[in-house]
Amino acid sequence: MRVTIPIFVLLLATSVVCKPKPVVRQPIEHHQLTLQFDVENHRLEGTARLTLPRKGVKVAGFLLGQDFSISDAILGGVPVKLKSRVVEDPEMISPEYGVFGEWDTGNALLWTTETSKEARRKELNNAFKAKPLILQVDFSGSLYVPPDNRQFSREKIAFEVDGTIGHEGIFLSPTAYWYPTLPDVLSTYEVTVKLPEGWNCVTDGMPGGAIERDGWVEVTYVSDVVTGALSFSAGPFVVEKLDHNGIAVMTYFLPEQAGLSEGYIEACTRYVDMYSDLIAPYPFSKFAVVDNFLPSGYGMPGWTLLGSEVLRLPFIKGTSLGHEITHNWIGNSLLVDYREGNWCEGLTVYLADYKYKEDADSLAAMEYRMNQLRDFAAYVNSDNDYPVTEFVSRSGPADRAIGYGKVMMIFHMLRKMLDQYDEAIFMQVISETYYKYQWQPIGWKEWQKEFERRLGQKLGWFFDQWLLNPGAPELAVENMVIENVKGGWEAKFEVVTKTFGDKPYKYLLPIRILSDRGSVNQQAFIQSSRQSIKLAGGGEIRSLQLDPGFDVFRRIYTGEMPLTLAEFFGDPDGILVIPSKDAKVDEYKRIAENLKSDGQRIVTDTEFTAEMENNSLWLFGDPEINCLFTLFPMDSSRLEYLPLRAPRWREDQPLPAGLVFKREEFHGGELIATLIDRHPKDAEKSIVYTLALPTADLVDGTRKLQHYGKYSYLLFEGDQNIRKGEWVVSGESPVAWRNKSAGK
Ligand SMILES: [Zn+2]
Repeated sequence: MRVTIPIFVLLLATSVVCKPKPVVRQPIEHHQLTLQFDVENHRLEGTARLTLPRKGVKVAGFLLGQDFSISDAILGGVPVKLKSRVVEDPEMISPEYGVFGEWDTGNALLWTTETSKEARRKELNNAFKAKPLILQVDFSGSLYVPPDNRQFSREKIAFEVDGTIGHEGIFLSPTAYWYPTLPDVLSTYEVTVKLPEGWNCVTDGMPGGAIERDGWVEVTYVSDVVTGALSFSAGPFVVEKLDHNGIAVMTYFLPEQAGLSEGYIEACTRYVDMYSDLIAPYPFSKFAVVDNFLPSGYGMPGWTLLGSEVLRLPFIKGTSLGHEITHNWIGNSLLVDYREGNWCEGLTVYLADYKYKEDADSLAAMEYRMNQLRDFAAYVNSDNDYPVTEFVSRSGPADRAIGYGKVMMIFHMLRKMLDQYDEAIFMQVISETYYKYQWQPIGWKEWQKEFERRLGQKLGWFFDQWLLNPGAPELAVENMVIENVKGGWEAKFEVVTKTFGDKPYKYLLPIRILSDRGSVNQQAFIQSSRQSIKLAGGGEIRSLQLDPGFDVFRRIYTGEMPLTLAEFFGDPDGILVIPSKDAKVDEYKRIAENLKSDGQRIVTDTEFTAEMENNSLWLFGDPEINCLFTLFPMDSSRLEYLPLRAPRWREDQPLPAGLVFKREEFHGGELIATLIDRHPKDAEKSIVYTLALPTADLVDGTRKLQHYGKYSYLLFEGDQNIRKGEWVVSGESPVAWRNKSAGK
């Protein structure tokens, strides 16, 4: 699933409520596209035949990218003139605008048959009577993003190339508006493509055989189930195909990756079988894994487009691939009505990424849930928080923590509640809802209705409290009173739940009690913001912990989670301090630019002032080139710098500079260590050290750090990670109570 980032949200929110009249009212039922690509000149020439509904169309229209022009248009067999205009407000293009998300239409022109009334009467009256009503358009244009521009910000999450046509390959996304269409359509397609010899291509639907003729290759894709706007990819692919119970499982890999095909096909068939059992039969005729010369990870109906670098990562088959395949059910054939927020990423994560952990072992699943809560605590604050009904797509880590993490946890809490009745219910409802609404967009309302129907209970309280409120409740155990009774103990305490809204949250709370006889798990249904609970047991109670397995979506405390790089990334007041006197100053500046989050600042050690001392800090370099290392010394049991040593008796063979990383000594080469610690002046703040040996390549050792937010320490040799991990957790927090007199 990919949806463009809503750029009009702010505008609409602040303007007076006055909806423009949509200019175009027709959907497009079928697209027949004939395309020819000239990669030499980055050019696309095409003919689109759009089948429009026969009734109620008075103005025919579509969007096309500003880089394209139109030579001819024929409506119902009658040549017509089209008029173009800029889309001032996307709502003018369709009455149903917003069902499939907000679209960035800034790059497109709206073309319509509407001319003056006089002309329309003459020209169009007869044309609109045609059956079927087809608007045929000849169009052409060029699209190219040079490789240098693409690489510039490749580490930034929001970076995207909309479309490019070149020697290295073709990639076209819906936001390039590369063929005449409307953003809200659900349509069938027939796409015939002419490509350079030796190339192949992928889009939605089932491919016919490639025909080679006169130095060209011609391929036709037919999609007879409805899908949204098309993406397209082409290149000198090596194609492999396996017929798996009537589904074509395929790979389109560039020659360098062709050897990986077998493993991918095997993994795909496994996922297709797994979700066919779990939800419903696979809804498309093919599934193809497609190699992209651009860095990407997109899931389209019946195919996924993964960057070459991503494809080569050994763990992708066990993680992202399954996620993208799950989208064929969740998001691509059970569609999302975006007007109530995008529920599909969180559910896909729950049925894919999270499920694989749960299938492996319960500890891995718990860690996954903890990571979601930790990311929420680290990245989401009162300035960037919003209810999940407003989530559309991911453009940064805060959106991810809300739209993926929080939504996943909402489905998890729902399942835990249903598991009390029957552990099969949750997946049954997912599957029944899928069958009922296949090929239709649905919102949270439909999910609520389906879960209520199956359970025979109203669930408005559950959906309302989790969907409509931003934030996460904070839990604490208070006023503990222990009484020794015959053969054991009795505990009375209060569970305090702090929330954003004025209504108390209701939720199922797991409680773990540890006594000298072992641990016991209990559950309580919390309904008030200060709820008294009484528990009893045998032996002597040692400790009590609320939500020990991170099953409740809540704000977790620092004592429950290891301090990791995410904490710095999520602090908008963080300051990155680079050396001022090293030859590599510019390089340090570049890597700091790449690592810095919104709001954070970059200064040199000489620009550093006393007011900055209490902010979260990230220091780069080593003590010889960045004086901040002396002002904020590293904990030497964790990290220490060893300068170049030239023993007097062997000046010809000095020991190169090195470092001690978690008591392990390393010397020379391409070593870069990064670790995070508590700020010595404020335990709520953090300090990160990136210690680079003078011989290290700074870019290699830091370019992946954004993706390592869940670690506390990392050691790189070149671009290879050789050590990583998390600090041990203290366990002290308001959700934990310890019996200080136990064992005395
Ligand atoms: Zn996804």
